[in-house]
Amino acid sequence: MRVLVPFGRRKMVGVIVKVTDKSDLPLEKLARVIAFPDDNQVVLTTETLALLKWCWRYYKHAPGEVVSNALPPLLRKADGAIPPLPVQYHLTTAGQARLSDPPGRIKAQYRMLEAMRENPATAAQLRALSNSWRKTLERLAEQDWIRTETQRAAQLNPSPGPVLIDEQQTAVAAINASLGEFHCHLLDGITGSGKTEVYLCVLEQILQQGGQALLLVPEIGLTPQLLSRFQRRLGFEPMVTHSGLSEGQRLQAWAMAKSGLARLVIGTRSALFLPMPELQLIILDEEHDASFKQQDGFRYSSRDVAVKRAADLGIPVVLGSATPSLETFHNAASGRYQWHRLRQRATGASEPRWRVLDLCQQTIKGGISTTAMDAIGETLEKGEQALVFLNRRGYAPVILCHDCGWHAACQRCDANLTWHKASHRLLCHHCDGGMPVPAMCPECGADALQGAGEGTEQLEQMLGNAFPDVPLLRFDRDSVRRKGEFERLSEQVKSGEACLLVGTQMLAKGHHFPKVTLVVIVNLDQALYSADFRALERMGQLMVQVAGRAGRDKLPGEVILQTHYPAHEALLTLLESGYEAFAAGISKDRQTTCLPPFSYQALLRSDAHQKQDVRAFLEQAKKLFPVGEAVIYGPFPAMMERRSGRTRWYLLAQASTRPDLHRQLDEWVAKLKSLPAARKVRWAVDVDPQDY
Ligand code: ADP
Ligand code: ZN
Ligand code: ZN
Repeated sequence: MRVLVPFGRRKMVGVIVKVTDKSDLPLEKLARVIAFPDDNQVVLTTETLALLKWCWRYYKHAPGEVVSNALPPLLRKADGAIPPLPVQYHLTTAGQARLSDPPGRIKAQYRMLEAMRENPATAAQLRALSNSWRKTLERLAEQDWIRTETQRAAQLNPSPGPVLIDEQQTAVAAINASLGEFHCHLLDGITGSGKTEVYLCVLEQILQQGGQALLLVPEIGLTPQLLSRFQRRLGFEPMVTHSGLSEGQRLQAWAMAKSGLARLVIGTRSALFLPMPELQLIILDEEHDASFKQQDGFRYSSRDVAVKRAADLGIPVVLGSATPSLETFHNAASGRYQWHRLRQRATGASEPRWRVLDLCQQTIKGGISTTAMDAIGETLEKGEQALVFLNRRGYAPVILCHDCGWHAACQRCDANLTWHKASHRLLCHHCDGGMPVPAMCPECGADALQGAGEGTEQLEQMLGNAFPDVPLLRFDRDSVRRKGEFERLSEQVKSGEACLLVGTQMLAKGHHFPKVTLVVIVNLDQALYSADFRALERMGQLMVQVAGRAGRDKLPGEVILQTHYPAHEALLTLLESGYEAFAAGISKDRQTTCLPPFSYQALLRSDAHQKQDVRAFLEQAKKLFPVGEAVIYGPFPAMMERRSGRTRWYLLAQASTRPDLHRQLDEWVAKLKSLPAARKVRWAVDVDPQDY
């Protein structure tokens, strides 16, 4: 239960995690609870609380923040309250009788009665009828034509899906067979192999039996396209929750999940902690996606915690992906997860063909080789669609002076400013810093500033000039900033007319654009020789996801990859033998070098304005690291050492087993607070880090 407690002069929200009649503190040091704001209603079930306890121990994070993270934002505030359950409106016998007469003069009222003819209507449905719906509703109530009642759980009304192919069938049967017990399934299916269809079949089964289910998707994956597909197939609207909703909407979703009214919740990372009393299945789609890891504050992996939650509840969990993470492959290979491979496109479409262009032997204009330009031209001529992928927004990643070599760098980060030509600004993509584009070189005064390299804005311009007769749609965070813009653009693509798409990874996931037959990957070379040991894995995932946009329907697809390293071994494996072989190859390298998933890591991250403060703290911290199996390395600077004006360094602890690592971490973290140097820095422990 929540309690309001005094905190200095403020009133704050606390949550009871334990009740005891003893305290180590003297009585006068204890504070009196001011109020129980929720009428004895529970906000965290025993089950959720146990999960959160596990989280704060495992992630070594402050319990208060872990608990707070699991509550909807409004319930973290002293004036927030649990909302009443939503109501629905129902015709009375008198209302029904009125409806059998002609409308007469009460057109608006009659229309509202009609909306309740078959089924009770919700406020949202009535709101859609007219702006003055509340007034109309009052009139109906005055005449005793309607009754108000607590909303009932949405009724499942499924429409038949396609006949499953064998691989899908096997997966569905295995998942269904495991209902009611903890079991982890890896649904490893190429893009378009019908993974979503597998989810739908299993969900139908669970919802039919009155259970609840939770589907977690990456931040970018929660598209109207996905939702309408679920709605069409299941015949009711799933509850949706993500951080883009208003606080009121998130609270409502929480209350609906908790009451059991929301039978299917589709949400991003934080939905994992929703109270769901009848929860029978958790699905994580695109399990490899980086957005499942929270990268600040309470740094947890919602994938790993989802598996833990399923284990606690004794229910199955399904991890789906066309490009599973090496961690998940490792678990599947060792038999901890049941591995279901879907290797055919469910529609019978063929997989796209790869064509590698060696950039060293090509004529390149504006980042795109003439060969790729010709292929784009041919595709458009045939009335089909082409997609050009470049994971860099803006006009150019750098602006520099041709005379003196000056280039625009962020004052607060170790990063160049990106030139955004249309908005006449230089922007840092790592902090909110930026400045107008200078007219002259600030260093030497020459009128010689020019961009180096390409971003999507430049590609749009260049391709627009080359193909002036076809619509060109740009998808990146700058171009689809306005609400609904993304949907508007995707509708245009789906209408099927010949067009050219340019975009960042926003285009990589989940979209089904049947007329796209050519994908051009402009450049992913940075990843091939990156210092980040996960860069190669991520590159492979991104490449496969982007390539998966090509030829999803009847028309065969082709993917052109431009690279300076056509002979790179991992790249060749990916193209010739597919993602599983690629992953096995880089997994072997990780094993040789004792990197995750063949070892376990934790970072002690620290940052401050002054480098010497960070280093002093980490040096002291390192001395405190207990002796044992786990080894401590560092201090190292972060890959981007300075960000938003702060210098960032870390220590890395690594061991070959989890228990070894955690035994030493627990002992260590308890001592860190008392270090004198800790007061001058910000620090945090990051268990199973993803970014360095
Ligand atoms: P994934 O989630 O693996 O990318 P989807 O479930 O979205 O795959 O399926 C890709 C396309 O194939 C969709 O248009 C879907 O309706 C269709 N599809 C899925 N399963 C079948 C099937 N068994 N028979 C025919 N079409 C199918
Ligand atoms: Zn200059
Ligand atoms: Zn910056």
